[in-house]
Amino acid sequence: MYVQLPFDELKVDPSQKKRVAYFYDADVGNYSYGAGHPMKPHRIRMAHSLIMNYGLYKKMEIYRAKPATKQEMAQFHTDEYIDFLSRVTPDNLDLFNKEQIKFNVGDDCPVFDGLFEYCGISGGGSMEGAARLNRGKCDIAINYAGGLHHAKKSEASGFCYLNDIVLGIIELLRYHPRVLYIDIDIHHGDGVEEAFYTTDRVMTCSFHKYGEFFPGTGELRDIGVGKGKYHAVNVPLRDGVDDASFKSIFEPIIGGIMEWYQPSVIVLQCGGDSLSGDRLGCFNLSMSGHANCVNFVKKFNVPLMVLGGGGYTMRNVARTWAFESGLLNNVKLPTELPYNEYYEYYGPDYKLDVRPSNMHNANTPEFLNKILTNILSNLDHTKFAPSVQMNDVPHDLEDKGDEQEDSPEAIDSKGGSQFSKDQQIEKDNEFYDDDEKDKGDKNISDNKLTDEELKEIEDLNHQN
Ligand SMILES: [Zn+2]
Repeated sequence: MYVQLPFDELKVDPSQKKRVAYFYDADVGNYSYGAGHPMKPHRIRMAHSLIMNYGLYKKMEIYRAKPATKQEMAQFHTDEYIDFLSRVTPDNLDLFNKEQIKFNVGDDCPVFDGLFEYCGISGGGSMEGAARLNRGKCDIAINYAGGLHHAKKSEASGFCYLNDIVLGIIELLRYHPRVLYIDIDIHHGDGVEEAFYTTDRVMTCSFHKYGEFFPGTGELRDIGVGKGKYHAVNVPLRDGVDDASFKSIFEPIIGGIMEWYQPSVIVLQCGGDSLSGDRLGCFNLSMSGHANCVNFVKKFNVPLMVLGGGGYTMRNVARTWAFESGLLNNVKLPTELPYNEYYEYYGPDYKLDVRPSNMHNANTPEFLNKILTNILSNLDHTKFAPSVQMNDVPHDLEDKGDEQEDSPEAIDSKGGSQFSKDQQIEKDNEFYDDDEKDKGDKNISDNKLTDEELKEIEDLNHQN
């Protein structure tokens, strides 16, 4: 039953210290989808600048991930699609006329300089974040260059080319019996839902605008098929959702999933286009209304991966991701923005806030009640522990291994192919890693910033 909860001030508990690993590649802000395109990777750099200038680097470990390789990308995507992404450039585009149509690149998903490297950064952060969570090296992993939820197995879609989320979840599935994916971007998380639609090892839950809106999927009645039945949750909303109504539907749904499904790890896509005043969106969430989702999910004390996503009013996306990074470190960042390289973007108020507008909320309590009642009654079906056998991996992983990769020397040095690694896990019937098997993981780079580099940043802050 839907009950409209009051929207209270967000609270953090400073005694609840979490180990946070934050992934950032300084190159990401240099990529451009082209003049006039709403997707601007620069917003990730703006968020990073706020995060650093607020001093959050003192609270968390900062990493530059190794870019995802073609082989890693092909754990979800087809070889020919990845091959295309790695070869195509704005200069040789006319050699790929057929492929452009086949792989849906063009207007929304243009071919731009450095496209493949951009995909590598996004995917590398999510895969390495997952690997660190798997090995218990952190409690929370953050990758704002990730969250590109529309990308399909062999098709670009909605400004997304590589589905870093699916790749990250595949990595998590090697150690975790049940993964919960939550998506608060204003668009339906279609690429992730589709990838795991037939499995009960991943539950996807997307809150989005539905009705004459991209990508057009995500109806209430879409709940998964086969073993995956009841393991896809769709919350189709109308224009103008405000903080109180979003909280009042988000919290009971996520609370219900946590109670019944009991995931061992959570991936939270934090698309910023659900914020009020977004260039493409039509919701009315304030910064706190958006951040409440992050704060609520964090309280369950389950390993958590936090990703970016959409968000087309750059200053508000940067503000919100910085604020949310603070919450993940148990800090409520002060409202006064610190001086930073992009200070002029935040005028005229220069405050850390995104305020709601007076737009009409088309989501009536009756409408929300109907959605909530329907979803909670479906969740009831997931109360019996789903199959946790590790051989129930999504079918994309079921290759038969590789003779060269699985030679004794190769297994010794690199851990062998994905198939061989899965076999090993299946045998051991273990979900958690021990040090011996670390060799087989996605290698975790040691690109943590040195004390000297951090000192430089700190000095910079003082100069400002
Ligand atoms: Zn979006």
